[in-house]
Amino acid sequence: MLRIGCHLSSAKGYVSMARQAEKIHANTFQFFTRNPRGGNAKDIDPSDVKAFLDIAETNDLSPILAHAPYTLNACSADPAIRDFARRTMKDDLTRMEYTPGNLYNFHPGSHVKQGTDTGILLISQMLNEILQPEQTTTVLLETMSGKGSEVGKSFEELRRIIDLTEQEKLLGICLDTCHVWDAGYDIVNRLDEVLTEFDTIIGLKRLKAIHLNDSQNPMGSHKDRHARLGEGYIGLDAFKRIINHPALRNLPFYLETPNELDGYAKEIQLMREARD
Ligand code: FE
Ligand code: FE
Ligand code: ZN
Repeated sequence: MLRIGCHLSSAKGYVSMARQAEKIHANTFQFFTRNPRGGNAKDIDPSDVKAFLDIAETNDLSPILAHAPYTLNACSADPAIRDFARRTMKDDLTRMEYTPGNLYNFHPGSHVKQGTDTGILLISQMLNEILQPEQTTTVLLETMSGKGSEVGKSFEELRRIIDLTEQEKLLGICLDTCHVWDAGYDIVNRLDEVLTEFDTIIGLKRLKAIHLNDSQNPMGSHKDRHARLGEGYIGLDAFKRIINHPALRNLPFYLETPNELDGYAKEIQLMREARD
């Protein structure tokens, strides 16, 4: 069965997200752990989490994918910003243990004039300080479009972060279709080749989630502007191939398209109809 959902608002807690997911026939979802621009997270309400876990089991709602705030930059040149990233991710991963065995996704970061090598080093340093062997959450590095000085725009860069991380068993990849397209990977005409390259460099066993977004810009544009499915340069035929590809079809898919709940419901239905 196709496992698909979208980004949901976490403002009203876990049960609220489960209800939103139910409404749009999603069987998984993504949410921000806190305000996307950072700041303090709301305290976890244990009764909300407990009720959520029951609903999730009844409705076969899994996995849940928590997304770190956008401002989290593990490879900033400013030590205070790096420290904020470390404290935020550590706190997020502690909170994730209330819902064990799920996924946590973050943008590797922007090196801002320090160079990619330094960026990769700083990101892996943070991961080495934070990841705990006993944690049950898999931490995902998101593939990036390469806008500005973003680290993670190529499979090679992501591989190097993994190689420098001691607890590499806890790491996976979240592939964002808009981002890899904008980074220059032709998932429209050469999906098989791109996935073979991913397998050679990183290994498909690391691939744990797909962000399903069309792109407002042509391949290689390094822009990162999401479009609704079929309204961008990637197009519906490519998304049909992506959700049905043998290497991808059993992964969870998350929409981050510019939509309200009813728009997400339509895209979820569209992808369910496109499932082979
Ligand atoms: Fe993201
Ligand atoms: Fe994404
Ligand atoms: Zn994006």
